[in-house]
Amino acid sequence: MKRISHWVGGSVVPGTSGRTAPVWNPALGEQQAEVDLASAAEVDAAVAAARAALPAWRATGLSRRAEVMFRLRELLDANRKDLADVVSLEHGKVPSDALGEIARGLENVEFACGIPALLKGGYSEQAATGVDVYNIRQPLGVVAGITPFNFPVMVPLWMIANALACGNTFILKPSEKDPSASLFLADLLAQAGLPAGCFNVIQGDKEAVDAILDHPEIAAVSFVGSTPIARSIYERATAAGKRVQALGGAKNHMLVLPDADLDMAADAAVSAAYGSAGERCMAISVVLAMDAVADELVAKIAERIPSVRVGPGTDPDAEMGPLITGEHRDRVAGYVTGAAGCGATVVVDGTTDLPAEGFFLNPSLLDHVAPGTPAYDDEIFGPVLVITRVASYDEGLALINGNEFGNGTAIFTRDGGAARRFQFDVEVGMVGVNVPIPVPVSYYSFGGWKASLFGDQHMYGPEGVNFYTRSKVVSSRWPDPATSTIDLGFPENR
Ligand code: NAD
Repeated sequence: MKRISHWVGGSVVPGTSGRTAPVWNPALGEQQAEVDLASAAEVDAAVAAARAALPAWRATGLSRRAEVMFRLRELLDANRKDLADVVSLEHGKVPSDALGEIARGLENVEFACGIPALLKGGYSEQAATGVDVYNIRQPLGVVAGITPFNFPVMVPLWMIANALACGNTFILKPSEKDPSASLFLADLLAQAGLPAGCFNVIQGDKEAVDAILDHPEIAAVSFVGSTPIARSIYERATAAGKRVQALGGAKNHMLVLPDADLDMAADAAVSAAYGSAGERCMAISVVLAMDAVADELVAKIAERIPSVRVGPGTDPDAEMGPLITGEHRDRVAGYVTGAAGCGATVVVDGTTDLPAEGFFLNPSLLDHVAPGTPAYDDEIFGPVLVITRVASYDEGLALINGNEFGNGTAIFTRDGGAARRFQFDVEVGMVGVNVPIPVPVSYYSFGGWKASLFGDQHMYGPEGVNFYTRSKVVSSRWPDPATSTIDLGFPENR
C-alpha cells in the first residue's frame, strides 16, 4: 500500500508514530494509500526545522524572496496538469475543477511576487526637529496552516505564498483525506529555491493539530475548515497567545428578484450549486426565489440538471465528481431522502441511478424548503440545492441576515438600485451581483462574517500580508551639530 509521509527540513520524512489513516479513491470507493498521522514529537521536529531556517530566511532580501515566488509561479504553471491529476485521484475532482483551483491558487503566488512593494512602510521626515519616524513590517516567525480537504492546492496557497514572501517559515497540516498535493507543493517550493526548513508538511489529525495549537514556538495559525473546528481552534490557539484567523463553514443564499434574467439565474444556480459536487464553502446552497417567479425559476433549474455530466476525474468531459467519502455521501443523501418528511418537495432526486462503484451522488433539487428544517439549517456540503420561496426582498434579506453563517451571497436582478441596497444591507463578507460565486481576486482578501470567520483578518491579499507581519515604528534622530541641545523637558513633537 502506498504510504504518504511528512516533509521536514527539505525532504520526505517517514512517520514514526505508528498511526496512519486510509486515503480513498473516491471515484472507485477503494482505499489507495495510507497517510502517516504525526505525534506531538513529530510536530516538534518540524517546528525545530522551521525555527532553524527562520533567521536566514527573514534576513533574505525582498528581491530574492520575490524571485522564489516568481519561480514557484512558473513551476506551478508548468505542472498544472500533473498536480491536477494528484488532486483528482485523492479528492475525486473532475479535471476542470482541479485545474480551476490550481489557477486560483496560482493567483495568490502572483500577488506575493509583489512583496517588495507590499511591504513598503510609511516615512515621516521631521516628525519633530531632527527626528524621523517610519514603520516597517516584520514576519511573525514560525507560522502554521491547517487546511480542509476540498481545496488541497488553493487553500494552502492562500496561506503559503504571503506567509513565506513576508519572511516567515511555515508548517502545513493538510487534510488527511487528500494529503499528496501538499508534498507536490513542497517539492515545487524546493525547486523554486526556497531553502530547506522554510516550508514543512506535517500529515495528521487532531493530535497533530493540538500540538500545533499548543506549541510555544508557533506564532500564528491560519485555519480553513468547518465551523465547530474553526471555533475551537480559534479559542485554543488564542488562549496560547497566537495570532489566529480561522475560516469556517457556510450556507450561501442567492436571492433572485422578479426582474432578474431567469435563464442567467438558473445557469448560475446550477453552476454554483453542483460545481465541485457542492463541496465548496462558496457554493450556492439556497436559492431564495420570489413568489412571482419561483415556479418558472424552479422549472428552469430542473430542466438543466439532467445535462450535468457526473463522472470520475479520469473522464475529461465529466463536470461533477464523487463526494469525498462514503460516509459523507450517505450523510448528504439523507437530506434528500428526509426532505419530504419535512414538508419539502423533491423536484430532482439525485440519490438514484448511481454508478456501482465510488462515492457518487447525482444533483438533487428540493423546493418549498422551510427554515427550521435540516436541509435549510445545515451546511450540507454536497450536490443538493434548496429552494426557499419568499414573498418580498425584505423577507429574503431577513433570512440571509438571520443565518448563523455569513460567508458568501448573491443577488440576481437587473435593478442597480436594488443591488446597491442589497450590498449595503446584507451581513455577509463576500457579495455577488449577478455573480454566483464571488470569491475575491487575489489582490482583495477572502473572508466571511459571523460563524464563517473567527479572527480579525481575512485571508490572502492585503489582509493576508497584515496577518503574517507585525508593524514596528521607529523614531530616529541622528547627531547633527546644528540641532543638538540639552533639554530636560518631556519629549514633545513641536
Ligand atoms: P474539517 O473542519 O473537518 O477539517 C479541516 C482541518 O481540520 C483538517 O486539516 C482536519 O484534519 C482538521 N480537523 C478535523 N477535525 C479536527 C479536530 N477535531 N481537531 C483539530 N483538527 C481537526 O473540514 P473539512 O471537512 O476538511 O472541510 C470542509 C469544511 O471546510 C466545510 O465546512 C467548508 O465550508 C469549510 N471550508 C471553508 C472555507 C472558507 O473559506 N470559509 C473554505 C473551504 C472549506
